[in-house]
Amino acid sequence: MTNHDVELLAIGAGPANLALAVALEELGADGLAESSLLIERGPTVEWQRGLLLPWTKSQVAFAKDLVTLRNPRSKFTFLNYLRSVGRLDDFINMGSFTPYRVEVSGYLQWVSESLRKVQLRLGCDCTSVEPVRDSAGRLTGWLTRLADGTEISSRYLVVGAGRDPYVPPELSHLPADRLIHSTRYRSRIATLDKDQPHRIAVVGAAQSAAEMFRATQHDLPNSDVSWVMRSIGLRAYDTNKFTNELYYPSYIDKFFEALPEGKKQILQEMHLTNYSGVESDLLQELYTGLYLDRLSGVDRQRLVPMTDITGARADGDEIVLELTDRKTGGVDELRRDLVFLGTGFVREMPGLIRGLGAAIGLDRIEVNRQYRLDLGEPSDAACYLQGVNEATHGIADSLLSVLGNRAADIAQDILAHRAAKRVNGVHRRTAVSVPADGAVSA
Ligand SMILES: Cc1cc2nc3c(=O)[nH]c(=O)nc-3n(C[C@H](O)[C@H](O)[C@H](O)COP(=O)(O)OP(=O)(O)OC[C@H]3O[C@@H](n4cnc5c(N)ncnc54)[C@H](O)[C@@H]3O)c2cc1C
Repeated sequence: MTNHDVELLAIGAGPANLALAVALEELGADGLAESSLLIERGPTVEWQRGLLLPWTKSQVAFAKDLVTLRNPRSKFTFLNYLRSVGRLDDFINMGSFTPYRVEVSGYLQWVSESLRKVQLRLGCDCTSVEPVRDSAGRLTGWLTRLADGTEISSRYLVVGAGRDPYVPPELSHLPADRLIHSTRYRSRIATLDKDQPHRIAVVGAAQSAAEMFRATQHDLPNSDVSWVMRSIGLRAYDTNKFTNELYYPSYIDKFFEALPEGKKQILQEMHLTNYSGVESDLLQELYTGLYLDRLSGVDRQRLVPMTDITGARADGDEIVLELTDRKTGGVDELRRDLVFLGTGFVREMPGLIRGLGAAIGLDRIEVNRQYRLDLGEPSDAACYLQGVNEATHGIADSLLSVLGNRAADIAQDILAHRAAKRVNGVHRRTAVSVPADGAVSA
């Protein structure tokens, strides 16, 4: 076991904490960036690696990158990335505001490689975080444990590890090699024999399910696919320029200050702008595919709407799904080899954060406007949560749209907290150094 000590530890090198790293490099004073460490469990920096399919596009404009809305002159902009890799002409010539996801992913990787002060360490799977207290019981920092036994202590902690995949309870006991959440789509597909006539169920009615339904036509072309959903059918995202204004970073203050019933209305009315829908071009493409199949008498993929999965069991190599028709109440069996889950993410706080809350002794996990966790006690330390605050900060919280501004809010709050603590005599840590072998020391 190795012990390390840093001033700021950021868990997860997704867009949220990469934006924070950029903000720390641009705004961080007095060595804060140099004493910050960003850890990522993946072997590389990739954006939503499970569904990083070559034809999928980002649903937000390229200018909503990690920094442009906060500082368009930054060297970390998406446009500067394109220029650096010689693709600026092509991108402009394409004439689209929304890049392919692989371009966004390439941008994130480039940002991670362009950081000069904040250290990044890959292959670090954080398993738990707990508070550290001094002999008087005052909270002074955090102890983060990694799967390999490493422990990292820090005064500041920023959790930006995304959300936990949602697996319906009726299916959760099924074998992991046959039940594949969208977050594992690419890695599981890579292990399958492409030419086999797999029998597949896709579950869910939103974008992830739609992407897997489409992808199987290429990835497993001889498969038979039943797409099971509770809803009456597929719906397009409800997007227009008016509701899109609610994704502005400047809307966060309005949402944060809104009455509880106002917040509830906003989230309800905005739901279909981000959840439970499918991007309209993809809808058209899926419909065209099914239309052409019908035209040529091919029956290899079908929608099964208004259907609940009310039970499931493994029977040898097969998965048997019990389907209940919501119109008639009739029950049927569907035998499949593989079940792909496009069921989204758990709404509640992720397990890592709930574990931390329990270790601190919190009844409720809540952050203030600057995303700082309410610890319910005086503290020399602080913890910030990114991407899990939709209930308090609005619908854009889990998306790219607000990243640059949110990162600056957090960085500035840490700087202010740190300055106040220094006045009170709490010393700060020295710079992190990560040698070529990846071991961290402070
Ligand atoms: C398929 C898909 C497509 C999307 N498309 C869009 C889009 O077009 N536009 C948009 O605005 N939003 C989109 N989103 C929403 C998405 O949540 C955000 O774009 C963005 O990825 C959120 O960034 P994040 O850093 O908060 O979380 P994530 O992107 O989930 O990043 C979290 C990172 O933390 C790492 N991590 C997790 N747990 C640990 C751990 N225990 N230890 C160490 N590292 C850990 C993960 O490996 C990951 O790299 C999409 C989401 C999905 C699933």
